Amino acid sequence: MQKFVFAYKTAEKLVNDVIKPGLCSGCGACIGYCPYIKSYGERVGVVHNCKQSEGTCYRICPRTETDYDHLRKETFGDVESEPVFGNFNKMYFARSCDESVRDRGQYGGVVTAMSIFALQTGVIDCALMTGGNFTAAKPFIASSTGEMLACTGSKYTASPSLSLYQDAVKEGFQNIGVVGRPCQCTAARKMQQVTEIKGERISLIIGLFCMGSFSPDFYKFVKSKGLDEYEKMDIPGDVKFKKDSKEMILPYDEVRKYIRDSCSICFDPLSELADLSVGSTEYDYGWNTLIIRTSKGASLAQDAVSSGIIEVKDYPIDRLPLLGKAVFNKKKRVLERRDAVYLEISDRERKYFLTDGGGV
Ligand SMILES: Cc1cc2nc3c(=O)[nH]c(=O)nc-3n(C[C@H](O)[C@H](O)[C@H](O)COP(=O)(O)OP(=O)(O)OC[C@H]3O[C@@H](n4cnc5c(N)ncnc54)[C@H](O)[C@@H]3O)c2cc1C
Repeated sequence: MQKFVFAYKTAEKLVNDVIKPGLCSGCGACIGYCPYIKSYGERVGVVHNCKQSEGTCYRICPRTETDYDHLRKETFGDVESEPVFGNFNKMYFARSCDESVRDRGQYGGVVTAMSIFALQTGVIDCALMTGGNFTAAKPFIASSTGEMLACTGSKYTASPSLSLYQDAVKEGFQNIGVVGRPCQCTAARKMQQVTEIKGERISLIIGLFCMGSFSPDFYKFVKSKGLDEYEKMDIPGDVKFKKDSKEMILPYDEVRKYIRDSCSICFDPLSELADLSVGSTEYDYGWNTLIIRTSKGASLAQDAVSSGIIEVKDYPIDRLPLLGKAVFNKKKRVLERRDAVYLEISDRERKYFLTDGGGV
């Protein structure tokens, strides 16, 4: 793998460029290497000024300078990226073949099924996941089927699960999986390049689709509305809370204000740097959309299908323009913002979204 020379920066610069302007995505990547950076729930703070001129924290943050073309090249080789969906090999509708995984999963349980399969086949020996529930997301190192099953379900706040990477390394895990939001996939690809933190142990990245996550204030909102009595939350347009047959629906406008500022500059709603990206289908909530991106992701998914772990069907061609339009518009909005300075993409790509319209 070709090494890239980064200009290292200090933790103080991380504070000035990312944390103070409210651009931290809460991915957790900067936690665990340095005694001066701490997390308080889903907030990150630098507790002491760092005298180092070069900091891993700055280097791996997904909101500091991020050269997408370089990361794409490292991940996919010298192939051109599709501007809207990113590099991909195939796109399917998919679901776990195990009904109990589907029942517990957010939608078709593909993330859980693929994580367990990767563990059982030795592709990974643990995964950084998110346990707890929508009233309290908890980063977790899952190294057994039971632990992975316990992490099912989306928690719509930011879970700083990458903060456990150093713990996983110290515990001796050699092949570490990452299940995360797009910002976490970007950070994980940056981490893979840093041998000082043993980033090469990241062996599989399963990325979630994500149009935005909520700030910690969302927890207060949930409590104040008495919504913590529900077990599951979903955002199929409106915001739905469920427990057994009991259901409560809120208009999305009531929660929109809790979206983290950092998400408004995110250029990557589909986890383009992951090995596999998984999201909803937007209409059939027993299934997922599964995007196969890397050759590693492709062979794992192929083996999972032939072993009866997941089932797939063709992505309906009439749905593609709908997904494409949502992603195109999100990327365009980000490029129009002046504060998305972290984003390094080619002028050609920028132009595709800002002037050509890409025909979408
Ligand atoms: C904040 C957020 C926003 C999302 N927005 C969209 C969207 O706009 N459109 C869309 O199609 N899909 C979105 N998703 C993805 C979707 O909710 C499902 O996670 C995805 O479809 C996988 O479904 P599944 O049935 O395979 O999940 P499961 O099998 O239930 O697995 C879910 C996995 O997600 C992980 N996880 C849960 N919460 C978090 C978190 N906060 N951060 C990191 N990892 C987490 C868990 O570790 C678990 O492994 C979002 C997810 C999150 C967490």
